[in-house]
Amino acid sequence: MGTPLQVMKFGGTSVGNADCIARAAKIIAQGAKEGRCVAVVSAMSGVTNRLIEAAKTAQKGNGGGATAAMEALRAQHETALADLVTSQSERARVKYRLDAVLAEGMRFCEGTALLRELSPRTMDAISSLGERLSAPLVSAAVKELELQSEVVEATELIVTDEFHGGAEPHMERTRDKSQLRILPLLERGIVPVVTGFLGATLGGELTTLGRGGSDYSATILGAALDADEVIIWTDVDGVLSADPRLVAEAQTISEISYREAAELAYFGAKVLHPKTLRPVVQAGIPVWIRNSFAPEKAGTKITPQAQSIGGGVKALTAIRDVTLISVGGPGIVGLPDVVGRTFSTTAEVRANVLLISQSSSQNDICFGVSSADAQKTVEALREEFASDLAHHKVEHIRVDPHIAIVAVVGQNMCGTPGIAGKTFAALGKEGVNLIAIAQGSSETNISFVIEEQSVLPALRSLHREFGLHRSVNGVA
Ligand code: ADP
Ligand code: ASP
Ligand code: MG
Repeated sequence: MGTPLQVMKFGGTSVGNADCIARAAKIIAQGAKEGRCVAVVSAMSGVTNRLIEAAKTAQKGNGGGATAAMEALRAQHETALADLVTSQSERARVKYRLDAVLAEGMRFCEGTALLRELSPRTMDAISSLGERLSAPLVSAAVKELELQSEVVEATELIVTDEFHGGAEPHMERTRDKSQLRILPLLERGIVPVVTGFLGATLGGELTTLGRGGSDYSATILGAALDADEVIIWTDVDGVLSADPRLVAEAQTISEISYREAAELAYFGAKVLHPKTLRPVVQAGIPVWIRNSFAPEKAGTKITPQAQSIGGGVKALTAIRDVTLISVGGPGIVGLPDVVGRTFSTTAEVRANVLLISQSSSQNDICFGVSSADAQKTVEALREEFASDLAHHKVEHIRVDPHIAIVAVVGQNMCGTPGIAGKTFAALGKEGVNLIAIAQGSSETNISFVIEEQSVLPALRSLHREFGLHRSVNGVA
């Protein structure tokens, strides 16, 4: 076996300005001293949002607005460059690269403005520019620390399908390409800095992995390179017992299982992209979540089997932008394929179905999707069931957009009686109205649908109810 290999990912806030990038570079340099280290970087915080806005501005025909947004990004990245790099020649080299990326961005925006058309493919090309701008800055900052470093575009490493805006990797091909490109660099002592969030189809067309997808990039590369660990550097101390923006008393969890972390990510814990753990499960590669602003803290370790804790419940999470869709009516009793057709339709449009609940008495199936997926899902369902709706076999396709899903997560809940009772009693006391309930057969979570305005009281009361505010939650 060779020297240990770490893949480190830095999120938007961790590369948010020159100071942050310098801090990230120090962490990378330390990793490179200890073994082999591959960095994966997000765009500087806020940049992806601004790029998406610029693309939409161009789509409205406002090429000037989009160009102004690009110029603002140029200024932001050049300011960081000036702060980070002392050598004139190195600055000029990096600036040349930034200029080339920005020129590409300008061309995409001009084309979009001219045609007033924004295809998912062009959106990917524009929204991924942020990573292509931040990676040269991070690589330059690493070089400032007397290390060798090279920017590697993920289009050279991660092979995906053609689903723009949420592409899936082909792991075998990704493995071959990544090993071929990255391992020789590491052997020569060069630290690769890889653009997160993006990949390319077999034909070389750039794709993105979905918002927040740099976490996924890191674990895809971790698995492809047989890494010993993946470290996700972010702006909080680790995975917390609840979203700290909603529950001030949330505590850092020292160790959590893949399963638990995946449930939290799936149900909205922004700290991890929902697909982050998929690539590493098979090889059992540990994933750490650590704070780039406090690297002395241990963070959270995500492992195949984490230590369990007494009470069973480890953390809570909530997704707010959920739309509840129900397909039903008395006629569906006689239509045995309604369930199958409903979910093959949602799969075709790649809607992320978050929760399903079927009530036989009301003869309907209801399920939650993220609100971003709602319109395309409902349109596809109306088309699929057009003739059944016309003949009243299916009475309605109803949509409720102001919904949230809360999940109570913990592997040890399995076999711990009374958790559901405790959960619902606490919510009852708080006056929270339950719209639907689902418990996964794995018993790793209980999730329920409530009105959006009830999220805060629900989370805060359950956090107390399960004693998560006390630092007993697997905290070291
Ligand atoms: P990055 O830019 O590093 O990818 P994100 O903003 O995507 O960071 O994710 C980190 C944020 O996730 C934190 O700042 C925190 O507000 C939020 N968050 C939500 N739920 C949790 C949780 N359970 N544990 C930790 N952070 C959480
Ligand atoms: N920059 C991308 C986003 O904002 C990817 C990421 O940060 O993970 O969605
Ligand atoms: Mg993120």
